[in-house]
Amino acid sequence: MTGIPTSFEDLAISPALLQTIREIGYESPSPIQAASIPHLLAGRDLLGQAQTGTGKTAAFALPILNGIDISKRVPQALVLAPTRELAIQVAEAFQTYARHLEGFHILPVYGGQGMGQQLRQLARGVHVIVGTPGRIMDHLRRETLNLSQISTLVLDEADEMLRMGFIEDVEWILDHTPETRQTALFSATMPPAIRKIAERYLRDPAEVKIQAKTATVEAINQQYWIADGMQKLDALTRILDADDIDAMIIFVRTKTETVELAEKLEARGYEAAALNGDMSQVLREKVIDRLKKGALDIVIATDVAARGLDVERITHVVNYDIPYDTEAYIHRIGRTGRAGRKGTAILFVAPREKRMLRAIEQATRQPIQQMRLPTLRDIADRRIEQFKAQLVETLDSQDIGFYRDLVDKLVAEDIGEPADIAAAIAHLMHRERPLAAPEEPEPRFREYPRDSRRDYRRDDNLLRYTIDVGRQHGVSPKDIVGAIANEGGISARQIGQIRLFDTYSTVELPADLPEDFFRSLKKTWVRNQRLNLQRAEDPRGPARSESRAFGAEDRKPFRKNVEGRPVPRRRDKSDESSD
Ligand code: AMP
Repeated sequence: MTGIPTSFEDLAISPALLQTIREIGYESPSPIQAASIPHLLAGRDLLGQAQTGTGKTAAFALPILNGIDISKRVPQALVLAPTRELAIQVAEAFQTYARHLEGFHILPVYGGQGMGQQLRQLARGVHVIVGTPGRIMDHLRRETLNLSQISTLVLDEADEMLRMGFIEDVEWILDHTPETRQTALFSATMPPAIRKIAERYLRDPAEVKIQAKTATVEAINQQYWIADGMQKLDALTRILDADDIDAMIIFVRTKTETVELAEKLEARGYEAAALNGDMSQVLREKVIDRLKKGALDIVIATDVAARGLDVERITHVVNYDIPYDTEAYIHRIGRTGRAGRKGTAILFVAPREKRMLRAIEQATRQPIQQMRLPTLRDIADRRIEQFKAQLVETLDSQDIGFYRDLVDKLVAEDIGEPADIAAAIAHLMHRERPLAAPEEPEPRFREYPRDSRRDYRRDDNLLRYTIDVGRQHGVSPKDIVGAIANEGGISARQIGQIRLFDTYSTVELPADLPEDFFRSLKKTWVRNQRLNLQRAEDPRGPARSESRAFGAEDRKPFRKNVEGRPVPRRRDKSDESSD
């Protein structure tokens, strides 16, 4: 193959997998996929430097699935992952991509889960195993897992496995797989210990690294928001309601999502259009033209579809889904701040994507400020200001003599005081959406402190873990601190926030714990419960419930206000344009 493939069709993957990719709506391979998949399909070993969010899972899952012999119900590929969350997430990704591979079976294998169920499924026969090193070792020792037919082995997040003290286990497992296997190692960073593993276990690997290009983006005010609990859609609509927005482009990952998000925004009263590679050139140009002319203010696009988009009135870029790499980010935010204007770029970051955030800061050589999401109070204040501006403008420039006479007449008729009449009129004007701030439906999400830089660093150095002891066991934070500080050999001051739940608790611990920390804590008991310390990140992000802050009927349209400053416009039937 010459050059880097730019479409999935260019990759030599089976029609069944291509069909799935079309259905999911992936527009094109992400850079790590484009660079890795051809090598893996060709049977080469691979050393890939990539982090979560780059699409690395599909980069190894698709080639593995492409090579699986479904008729043979023996493990043909093994993926080692540092945490049970990641193991489950990877297994789910395989399951998704294998949608049209009938009879395909994958088994996630991790500690904390009953052995019985795993044994039953192993006995039934599986094609791919994704597991944490400890539990895989258990199975190998008990001879309940046979890896003799493994043709591909993937080490996912190798640096995390190193950090968590699993590297010897990983080596032991590698030594128990056929030497003829293909090996792929993915790691966000390449510390010497990982390089050593690569040298020892990989044969002439292709090295794939997504280059972090640097670029200056001075005209753009960059902010990020941690999507931690609150719906991204709710956050987006608050931004739409509170910011001075002329036009906004919102980036998502898939073609399907462009359409879905446009529909959701429409349902909430904002006029929005999708821009994706499935649309004909004519249709795409039509959307861009409306955006240019100001007939449309919100466009939801994929990276591919927005390539080269040059519309001066775009004041805001929202990275609704984080980009795959820094280059894509730089390209995306470059859609604003054009022709010497100022632009704002907002990045939604799931807690597990913080690494990408840091990589982006490095690439743009600029700190990205943590944003405080507008509160409902902020939005109400802004609307009151706008109302005031409208009144001033009307008093200044309109001939209101007729109405003035009418009010005089009403006062003379003793209907009410002038101020009461004015208040009644204001009430009527805002009957649909009162100006008073509704009660804040907090706390459905956590506001991060405004002093974002410092907090972000602190946050970044702590990782959240779960432990299997909670309120119902009568545990107190003091017990937890005592156990961890004593047994684990770290000081109480190094322990961050502890939160108790009924059956478990979470505790924040330094990211750079010594390797034997986890080993020593394995034997620790608190209130008759084994701690069973595990990384707590939820790899699937916040719950997908369709909660809403307030309804579509509350929304205001996007249109210029009297001062010519843009304000959100309500979709108006008479305003609807031709397509
Ligand atoms: P990962 O880095 O493997 O955790 O993937 C991050 C996210 O990107 C997942 O939600 C995938 O579904 C999504 N994804 C992976 N590859 C693509 C692609 N080529 N196009 C769009 N989304 C993708």
